[in-house]
Amino acid sequence: MRIDIITLFPEMCEAVLSESIIGRARKSGAVEIVCHQLRDFAFDKHRRVDDAPYGGGMGMLMMAEPIALCFENICETLGKRPHFVYMSPKGRTLTQEIVKEVSANYENICILCGHYEGVDQRLLDMYIDEEISIGDYVLTGGELPAVVFADALCRMLPGVLSSDECFELESHYSSLLEYPQYTRPEVWREERVPDVLLSGHHANIEKWRREQAIKETYKRRPDMLKTAVLEKKEQEFLKTLAEDSGEEA
Ligand code: SAM
Repeated sequence: MRIDIITLFPEMCEAVLSESIIGRARKSGAVEIVCHQLRDFAFDKHRRVDDAPYGGGMGMLMMAEPIALCFENICETLGKRPHFVYMSPKGRTLTQEIVKEVSANYENICILCGHYEGVDQRLLDMYIDEEISIGDYVLTGGELPAVVFADALCRMLPGVLSSDECFELESHYSSLLEYPQYTRPEVWREERVPDVLLSGHHANIEKWRREQAIKETYKRRPDMLKTAVLEKKEQEFLKTLAEDSGEEA
């Protein structure tokens, strides 16, 4: 997969995406990420990419033409048109399902980071394939949302994590939250690690983890259980949780 990021602050994206697992994935060639300085596509000597909004109002807007030129340059370099995503508080809210869908369908993704009050609507209408939000709040720029989205996409690629199991058992992958985890020491401030985890009995450990995942999800995010695929025994376990709390599963 190749991800191109169009931004006024490429160093901000690079700083995050050069570290740790994603940094190593880039070095190993499992993913290519290229951050583009939008000002390189400005057409005046001051490298201006923003202007005041028509009709008045607060703040500045990013102009359409530098973004269009930058995107066209990326298309030319790639020899094809990448899926073009604008990070925006108006977009559909990012979920693991969206991450799976985008990473399964697109080999090339270009992410536009907005700034100021946003972007000229004509550019969005003409070029953008979809808008994605990272939550119902407003940040100063699209750089943090872009690195969140890029990180989520990258960690699902083959060769980035040690095995697919790493993300398949994690929260949200299959509409469950992850089970609780423990590491050394066995007893910490008089709190013991659950016995089953020390038993070495893999089937019992797996069963315990599944049940704990169902329990966590039931407690914290019962809405997610509507789409979770549960075996008959697990459905019965869920029923007992509901009965114990005096509710209907
Ligand atoms: N005026 C815009 C509005 O009310 O919808 C907000 C603009 S915001 C200050 C500047 C940029 O930050 C946006 O263009 C977008 O790229 C990014 N941004 C802010 N919050 C975001 C969020 N929750 N998800 C994704 N991008 C966001």
